Amino acid sequence: MSTSKNQSRNQEKGTGALRKPIVIAIDGTSASGKSTNAKLVAKALNYAYVDTGAMYRTLAWHCLKNGVDVDDARAVAGALRRWKARLDCADGHVRLLVDGYYPAREIRTAETSAAVPHVAAIPKVREWMVQAQRACAQFGNLVMEGRDIGTNVFPETDFKFYLDASLAERTRRRQADGVEEDLARRDKRDSERKAAPLMVPLGAVVVNNSGQTPQQTSEFILAEVRRKLAAQG
Ligand code: C5P
Repeated sequence: MSTSKNQSRNQEKGTGALRKPIVIAIDGTSASGKSTNAKLVAKALNYAYVDTGAMYRTLAWHCLKNGVDVDDARAVAGALRRWKARLDCADGHVRLLVDGYYPAREIRTAETSAAVPHVAAIPKVREWMVQAQRACAQFGNLVMEGRDIGTNVFPETDFKFYLDASLAERTRRRQADGVEEDLARRDKRDSERKAAPLMVPLGAVVVNNSGQTPQQTSEFILAEVRRKLAAQG
C-alpha cells in the first residue's frame, strides 16, 4: 500500500486538505478477541490494521533466535539498536519486517509467547515501539490493537475500546487455536509492569465479549465508532 493512496483516503472531500488520521484503539487482555475484532472493524471501514502485539513478539523472537537474554535490558536494547526493522503496509495490514522478513509463524509459538512480556517490560523497548506505532499514521486511518494504545500510544484518540472475556473462555479460544498457554500469568505480568501497564484507558468503552460472536462484538464497536464520527460531523 502506497502512502499516496492512504493520503487520499484522509483527504477532506473537495478541499484537498489533509486531516489527521483517525485511530481506533483496541486494548485488552490476552485472547480477548482483539485481533479478530480489530481486523473486522478495519475491513469494514477500510482502515489499516496494526497488531502491536506482533511487533513485541517479533522482537522477542529476534532475541531468542540470536541468543539475547530477554531479561537483560541492556542486551535487549543493544539488539534493538542493531536490528534492521522497518514498517510495511500490504493489503491493509501493517507489519514490522526484520531484514525484510515477517516471522508470521515463529511469533506465535509458546516459546515466543512466554518471552514477549519480558521484552515488553523494558522501557527502552517500549520507547522504540511507541515511536514505530505512532509512525504507522503514515499509512492513513488505523485500527490498532494492543495493551497500551489508548493509554500511551494514541491517548488523544476519541475512539478507545477495552476488550475482555472470562479466563475460561479466553483459555478455550487459545486452545482452539492449538496453543496451550498460561494466559493469567501473561496478563498478570502485563498489568503489573512499571512501564505502560495494561489497564482500561480513560474514556474507553469496555466490552466483555464472553458468549458473543466476533460478528456481534465488531458490530457493536462499529456502531459506536459510526455514532461518534456522526457526532463529530
Ligand atoms: O496481543 P499479543 O498477545 O500478541 O501480545 C503479546 C504481548 O506483547 C503481550 O502479552 C504484552 O506483553 C506485549 N504487548 C505490549 N503492548 C502492546 C502489545 C503487546 O506490552 N501494545
